[in-house]
Amino acid sequence: ALTDASPETSPALEVLHRVFGYGSFRGEQQEIIEQVVGGGDALVLMPTGGGKSLCYQIPALVREGTGVVISPLIALMQDQVNALTALGVRAGFLNSTQDPYERQAVEQAFLADELDLLYLAPERLRTEGTQRLLDRGRVSLFAIDEAHCVAQWGHDFRPDYLALSMLHERWPKVPRIALTATATRATHAEIVARLGLDEARHFVASFDRPNIQYRIAPKNNPLKQLLELIRTEHEGDAGVVYCLSRASVEKTAAFLVEQGVEAVAYHAGMDSRTRAANQARFLREDGIVVVATIAFGMGIDKPDVRFVAHLDLPKSVEGYYQETGRAGRDGEPATAWLAYGLQDVVQQRKLIEGSEGDEAHRRSLGMHLDAMLALCETVDCRRVRLLEYFGQSGEPCGNCDTCLTPAESWDGTVAAQKLLSTVWRLAKERRQKFGAGQIIDILQGKKTAKVIQFDHDGLSVFGVGADLSTAEWRGVVRQLLAQRLLAVEGDYGTLVLTDESGEVLGGRRSVPLRKEKAVAAPSRKESGS
Ligand code: ADP
Ligand code: ZN
Repeated sequence: ALTDASPETSPALEVLHRVFGYGSFRGEQQEIIEQVVGGGDALVLMPTGGGKSLCYQIPALVREGTGVVISPLIALMQDQVNALTALGVRAGFLNSTQDPYERQAVEQAFLADELDLLYLAPERLRTEGTQRLLDRGRVSLFAIDEAHCVAQWGHDFRPDYLALSMLHERWPKVPRIALTATATRATHAEIVARLGLDEARHFVASFDRPNIQYRIAPKNNPLKQLLELIRTEHEGDAGVVYCLSRASVEKTAAFLVEQGVEAVAYHAGMDSRTRAANQARFLREDGIVVVATIAFGMGIDKPDVRFVAHLDLPKSVEGYYQETGRAGRDGEPATAWLAYGLQDVVQQRKLIEGSEGDEAHRRSLGMHLDAMLALCETVDCRRVRLLEYFGQSGEPCGNCDTCLTPAESWDGTVAAQKLLSTVWRLAKERRQKFGAGQIIDILQGKKTAKVIQFDHDGLSVFGVGADLSTAEWRGVVRQLLAQRLLAVEGDYGTLVLTDESGEVLGGRRSVPLRKEKAVAAPSRKESGS
């Protein structure tokens, strides 16, 4: 790259320098660009921030005609086009937010071959009008951004993406490049199959983000824990805090503001002006913490986010990876911190049980959750487990919580047997349903009003678990739920046995568990039942 100013440089490199002002390509960008410039198809798996955009923008500038970019991120199209226009690139977009005049102007420019790049919402492409428009102009390539949206059981499925299989049939000579930051092997295969990318060259970048420190902490008092994280490690830093519900977004943002942290809220239920203003503050000012639902962040490119905190459990490893990936895009050290507790498992399992869709869909959601739980409960390096999930391998990293303070495991078989047999005893009573709180009280031999009311102090299991603390028992319940040796049922989080519980009760299966070390921290406090 030292001599890359020589006259015989490739057109791609020339565009990189002249238009984008960058000195050299990153990772496999050059190979990807050459493949597409040469008319071939490409499938690009590259983490967020890896530099996917240039992989289709440069070929669009080098090849004759207009590069058509299909993107589900309608809200960002205007920004993307503005950024390109500022660089002197001729770009436009077509989506439902435009009035007919704007749309017509873009169509005219495309037909006059005056556009380098045209961004299209997937639902536009389904209309016959748009297809005829593309026939009449000159398309240099199709870029399918966020290609994982075509995966039906993925976490981001968009039905409109299924229609993209038509691209190849209708315009067989136009090269296609599909890009995504999130793909397990299964998703990867589904993209190839659904988009007919059999001939495509695959470019798979490493998913490792070495500057991100991954930490998953037991949740006891999440707001206090979050504040401590900010005060001790990230005072004055820009950060993103993810919560599951709009209500907890509001509550968390208000709490942080009360504590003197510059925080703003962001969720789909807010009026759009406030939401846009909050997002703009986060992007433009230094050191703003945005508290958001996962609606926030698709396509957000703020390089100096120093921490991403999750106060609720993400639904999948893909989601977790993508959300945490918004930290440290500048390559400087950043923290990905997640607080995780028994209630998260109960809540997520209940959400799945009550979710719309068929059994296969629920099973798929369950598998995504199981993978996320396995990451939370692992005693191995988090990064290694994360990379394994994406089909990549790595060495223990030295920059995650389990590497820094190795988690211990213990033989929880006997504890599990005590717990499961208590659940079994109570299930026999049938009249009444009981959650984790009551079961732990019985195990510890606590004569609470509710224990006495139901004569639970007379059970043979009463007091057999006095050797473990409440926090430790909650850890046992949580991990048994994670391993599907226990399940929850109904609105009150009633604990019930599963098909596999019998193996433990019958002594045919041992149960290694992760030790609950950090729960013994000074800020210890039990939350809820
Ligand atoms: P992705 O779409 O993969 O999340 P982007 O295409 O938005 O990533 O790129 C992330 C950032 O990296 C952008 O700010 C982009 O300008 C920058 N970038 C991409 N390629 C290069 C390069 N070769 N040299 C310098 N900066 C680059
Ligand atoms: Zn590690």
